[in-house]
Amino acid sequence: SFHKSKGQHILKNPLLVDTIVQKSGIKSTDVILEIGPGTGNLTKKLLEAGKMVIAVELDPRMVLELQRRFQGTPLSNRLKVIQGDVLKTDLPYFDICVANIPYQISSPLTFKLLNHQPSFRCAIIMFQREFAMRLVAQPGDTLYCRLSVNTQLYARVFHLLKVGKNNFRPPPKVDSSVVRVEPRKPRPQVNPKEWDGFIRICFIRKNKTLGSIFRMKNVLSLLEKNYKTLRALQPSQIGSSAGTDTEMDISGLADYKEDQSSMDLDDGTDDEMEVEDGDDTEVSEFKEKVLAVLKEKNFYEKRSSKLSQEEFLYLLSRFNMAGIHFS
Ligand code: SAM
Repeated sequence: SFHKSKGQHILKNPLLVDTIVQKSGIKSTDVILEIGPGTGNLTKKLLEAGKMVIAVELDPRMVLELQRRFQGTPLSNRLKVIQGDVLKTDLPYFDICVANIPYQISSPLTFKLLNHQPSFRCAIIMFQREFAMRLVAQPGDTLYCRLSVNTQLYARVFHLLKVGKNNFRPPPKVDSSVVRVEPRKPRPQVNPKEWDGFIRICFIRKNKTLGSIFRMKNVLSLLEKNYKTLRALQPSQIGSSAGTDTEMDISGLADYKEDQSSMDLDDGTDDEMEVEDGDDTEVSEFKEKVLAVLKEKNFYEKRSSKLSQEEFLYLLSRFNMAGIHFS
């Protein structure tokens, strides 16, 4: 009676449920947000460990089953069930989030949580193994990619537990992992559109040098277009970071849009020579301006596959100070 399309794979191993709850570090005063409670195996333990559980469940039949399970027990007045799609639900205040979710919503849910404010203590989430390994990957690791950097900008992520497919009924096709996501405090102050535009460009080829990426004709022309638009809007403020909140035409970025699942398939075997290098006879002033920022602190020879979120933040701020913008 379970719906595969809703990712309904129920945790059937009680020991594993206990381990997840233990590793969550729940305090008796905690308000817990549970996403996708299903039949409530995890919910029960969460209710016993914390002060209150707010459970968001999409499937109305599961909501009924959950309510029926706790009806008339002392646990029921500490459980609040919200029926709906977690991605479309305004999340309430919570201290801790515990989620065993369908894997299709991994990416949007992660970013919804990372954008949630006030920020919570941590989120304990079951993901498909591959996705989890990308979230925790560090600079230099094979799986390090745009998803890793974007997540690590706002949070520290730890791998907690490997979970084999046979712990679920019915078993999914892939293995899983439980990770712990801890929002950074204070939250880094960055213009999200600038950051996104910048990181997309840096990861066009994560194993190429930033020097070769920023010499690409279409990258330079996009940046120059932004530069000119900004200059036209604010003739007196070139060189400052003013105007970063202005809505800009980012349509040019669509060329680099990559799907999270298919991204970073680049294995670094490409030859450097194949990078488009614009018109060599006419070295533009703008190009020199861009490359000067990269050369200033030796980013020119560096590769995105080896840079931390802190280094990216720093480089973005140097670009912005030079009046170069990514959105
Ligand atoms: N937590 C239970 C367990 O561990 O046994 C069930 C986990 S099952 C993998 C995922 C649950 O999330 C299902 O009950 C499903 O109906 C629910 N679900 C699927 N999509 C959802 C969404 N967008 N918002 C909220 N719940 C969703």
